[in-house]
Amino acid sequence: MRVPFSYLNRQFKASAPGEKEQILDVILADIKTFVQTGDFTLGKKGEEFEKKFASFVGVRHAIGVNSGTDALFLSLKALGIGPGDEVITCAETFIATAAAIAATGARPVFVDVNDEYTIDHDLIEGAITERTKAIMPVWFTGNAPDMEKILAIAARHGLSVVEDSCTAVNAAYKDRHAGTFGIAGAFSFHPLKNLNVWSDGGMIVTDDDRLNEKLRMLRNYGLKSRDEVELFGYNSRLDTLQAVVALRLLPDVKACTDRRIAIAEAYDRALCRIPQIDVPRRNPDVRHVYHLYMIRGEDRDGLLRYCEGRGVEAKIHYPLPLPYQNCCRDLGYKPGDFPRTERDCQSIITLPAHPYLTDDEVDYTIETVASFYGARVA
Ligand SMILES: *Cc1c(COP(=O)(O)O)cnc(C)c1O
Repeated sequence: MRVPFSYLNRQFKASAPGEKEQILDVILADIKTFVQTGDFTLGKKGEEFEKKFASFVGVRHAIGVNSGTDALFLSLKALGIGPGDEVITCAETFIATAAAIAATGARPVFVDVNDEYTIDHDLIEGAITERTKAIMPVWFTGNAPDMEKILAIAARHGLSVVEDSCTAVNAAYKDRHAGTFGIAGAFSFHPLKNLNVWSDGGMIVTDDDRLNEKLRMLRNYGLKSRDEVELFGYNSRLDTLQAVVALRLLPDVKACTDRRIAIAEAYDRALCRIPQIDVPRRNPDVRHVYHLYMIRGEDRDGLLRYCEGRGVEAKIHYPLPLPYQNCCRDLGYKPGDFPRTERDCQSIITLPAHPYLTDDEVDYTIETVASFYGARVA
């Protein structure tokens, strides 16, 4: 059996003759109609998706941008963050989090993770200096950082909070949607994110009216109106064609996410019985959306090779600690600075957990992991 990590050819397959219409055909028909309007730049469909996304998340404003990375970068720019400033974020994350900070000219300051792959809030205050302007917690793997504690720290020190909720569409902490705790939250619609379009795309959400206005200018060359330029900006609009795609996918996000969660729960139930596997603690206050289903295992490299050999496409997110990558060489970090991130890089493994897996594929994945350790889980 092959258990694929990517689901794109399952999500977007054409309907067979006589079969019920697939989402691919529905979207292609929408695109045909859309292209004939010529409303390619920002435009009605872009606005419609922004409105629907804002109401899905429960915020006043959603601003469509080119990518999740730009959503983070533009949020920091709109807050006036730049050279000489510091932004605190998590050592265990995708490179884009730190790249967005660095792109403003500010310095990324890393803090180690807790055992659930989110920023260890107890270490944040020790990383604050007089140059610190913001904290950027990451909803890594689709799990919530401790937003209450982080907001309290930010308030005590007069810092902004910008959430990297790129992987966290439909995730929540105490029923409040990811991205709505800080002054701004960033989302990605990359093809492998939980709400995915057919290229790149991103969104910023905020309840702040002034930030909303500034972000709308910043993503569109700094234009205030057709003829007035308020500030130097960027070309980072959400492609309206991708908004057409997203408008069709948004209504299915909750059902797809529920399926992801059900698969993750099945994995948790079985894998927690294997002594060599460490399943992270699950916080009942969090709707964890499992963009990545990630656990720690003994002899991880052996497990990875074994899974690959049996057709289970497991992955490592990520094998090298970000603060020790070459791009961070000027930041002065050294091995030993982030012990939990280092441990994770050596022991984590991501199993396929997308909503298009069959129950048989889920069972096969469990059996594969169990048989590597000579464990019985059934
Ligand atoms: C994917 C991702 C991003 C960047 O999103 P893009 O749309 O690919 O630019 C940022 N942060 C995290 C944690 C991500 O997983």
